[in-house]
Amino acid sequence: MGEIIVTLRDYHLTLRDVSDEQPEYLETVFSLGNGHFGVRANDPISGNPITGTLINGFYETAPITYGEAGIGYAQKHQTILNLPDLRHVHVSTSNGHQFTHSKRTAVDLDLGSGTLKEKYVISTDQGETVTMAVTSVMGQGQTSLWGISYTFTAANYAKGLLVSKSIAVPAEAEAIPSADPRKTRMAGLPICETEFVTQDLQRYHVKTRVTKQAVTMYLGILVAHGQLLQQPVDLSDEQAHTLDYEAYVGEVGKHNTIDPAAMFMASSIAALVDDSRDFWQGVWNRSEVSVDGNDDLDLAIHYNIFQLNQAAGRDGRTNIAAKGLSGSGYEGHYFWDTEMYMLPYFTYTNQQMARQLLLYRYQTLPKARERARALGVDQGALFAWRTINGEEASAYFPAGTAQYHIDADIAYAVGKYFEITRDLDFIIQCGFEMVLETARFWENFGSWRQVGTDCRFEFHTVTGPDEYTALVNNNYYTNRLAKHNFGLVVELAHQMMKRSPQLLSKFGLSESDLDVYQNLADHVYLPYSNELEINEQDDSFLDKPRWPAEKSTPENFPLLLHYHPLTIYRYQVAKQADTLLADYLFPEDLSVDQLKREYRYYEGVTTHDSSLSRSIFSILAARMGDPEKAYRYFMDTARMDLVDLQKNTADGLHLANLGGSWLALVAGFSGFYVQDEVVHFANHLPAELDRLTYRMKIAESVLEIDLTADNLDVTVISGPIPTYGVSVNGELISLVKVS
Ligand code: BGC
Repeated sequence: MGEIIVTLRDYHLTLRDVSDEQPEYLETVFSLGNGHFGVRANDPISGNPITGTLINGFYETAPITYGEAGIGYAQKHQTILNLPDLRHVHVSTSNGHQFTHSKRTAVDLDLGSGTLKEKYVISTDQGETVTMAVTSVMGQGQTSLWGISYTFTAANYAKGLLVSKSIAVPAEAEAIPSADPRKTRMAGLPICETEFVTQDLQRYHVKTRVTKQAVTMYLGILVAHGQLLQQPVDLSDEQAHTLDYEAYVGEVGKHNTIDPAAMFMASSIAALVDDSRDFWQGVWNRSEVSVDGNDDLDLAIHYNIFQLNQAAGRDGRTNIAAKGLSGSGYEGHYFWDTEMYMLPYFTYTNQQMARQLLLYRYQTLPKARERARALGVDQGALFAWRTINGEEASAYFPAGTAQYHIDADIAYAVGKYFEITRDLDFIIQCGFEMVLETARFWENFGSWRQVGTDCRFEFHTVTGPDEYTALVNNNYYTNRLAKHNFGLVVELAHQMMKRSPQLLSKFGLSESDLDVYQNLADHVYLPYSNELEINEQDDSFLDKPRWPAEKSTPENFPLLLHYHPLTIYRYQVAKQADTLLADYLFPEDLSVDQLKREYRYYEGVTTHDSSLSRSIFSILAARMGDPEKAYRYFMDTARMDLVDLQKNTADGLHLANLGGSWLALVAGFSGFYVQDEVVHFANHLPAELDRLTYRMKIAESVLEIDLTADNLDVTVISGPIPTYGVSVNGELISLVKVS
């Protein structure tokens, strides 16, 4: 199937497009990544002694020390390692004056080629000044590579320079105690050895002490042999002088079979730029989005898609951390954020990647089984709330392990992947086992209860997505997703049986077991308030007092940084979309009138202290027919990191929100959802936008969706005319293929 090439308008993120010039903030926003590793945009002269390079899945553990421990508590922290800053360069005058001051005067991140260009004015204590232009780029096809080039031009100093580059062993940073649970903690320092293999090639080997992981990096200069990592440059000719370097970052735990010297000899920055540009062209061909009517938004959504792709582990052994590879906040952990907020972008534009991300979860299934046993549940599996290696790393179980919904979130994502791909092989090999094991967990974790004539299946002492309400009974979101999880066992089992009736027994199931799961699905209790005519967040949420007005001034937010959790838990206050998230996932569950009541109610008690909230409010506002409100929420969502809305972008980007911003466009403004083999669209374009066009891939067909105020067109731009139905504004349409 030939790809229809998109001619990308030039999208560049520059200093003008971001909220401030604090170094840590810029390091995050202009970070580069390729799913395997990420390089923060540290100032090359001052550097960052603590962090620069993050490798996906390269982590250290340390025991969690509890004041009062309990049985089954998570045992070990897992923390992504801060590795040396590859961008750092030492520059001195020929008589030994170090350039220690620098000012970043321009930055330009080209989203079409993945190239980062920066300009610095650098100076010594003695006032000698030169300009330094820096270009850096990640290998995208060759994900072990990253290249950087420095171009020096005389300013008030026009004589000799000595430029020297090396990978330095990271400084032992002091652990700064913080009450902010979103920050990373210090892991034990790894064992690092560096050696100069030749004068133009440095090897850096790093080993973790406890997890026994190892990675080898190489740094080399990219000009003809005989050049040194320590290189003289003479500016007296008034010319610009460029030095190119490349780093090779090996895979975790894999022995390097490459010959780095030969590799660097054959390489060039230009070749890396080509490699990167090819990759990005592929991304935009599959998932180009263009928004007419607001250039800032248009740029922001391109940036968000760019960062999602930079962050996502592509090897089936790694995933997408909450901060991607842009910062070590949340310790580099993977959360439910992947399945519910980021995976949809991949599921609907790049199914191969979606599969890889699901495969990561599958690899952790044995640990999830152990975790269920530790929680006293005899069957099934409970996936870790936050983790790198599959073990639970949440030290605070009320807002961690108690979010059992992660199980059903993963099952939901498997179902959505299958719905679109019909990839029965994946279901047979891995997907069904995850859905079945999570359903078995719910079956054994929940309990039957007779209330009057009503016999219902309930889940007690759980925490839903809203982390400001913990350990409650019958969280609506959790119950609704568990109900779906049970139903999915039955649905996928029937799909497998079409291929071979014997397949059921492979999973230890008989047809009567399917009746059991169907019965459970039919009886899961969903709390509803007859008085308010809305779904209730849980059995007790609506009984609590509302968060006091006198504690609602801006300086009290986010509440988690100002109040003990038990203060927050006493009130009817939500950190993020909870019941509304279920409403978004299951549009068939409620009428628009009920949705409106529910939205009004929960909007009144939600603080949006989590970055996972606003995108869902945007989608539902669009669905309710309030595109202007949808647009306001969308503005905050699309530009969250570019305006530093949550005030902690320095710790890393908010990846779930980046995925959420794509969802807000697709599921919100164009009303996209799939149900019963029909792909639905509806036009909810806000008046502020003139036009929205985007691509998505469903089954084998790439579709282009084009919305203006009074029109919504869907065309097939490559692949076959799909066999599933497509509905626009409630009417089935016939698709045409454009050539
Ligand atoms: C949110 C969680 C989320 C986590 C990581 C928290 O603030 O409440 O829902 O999984 O951040 O992004």
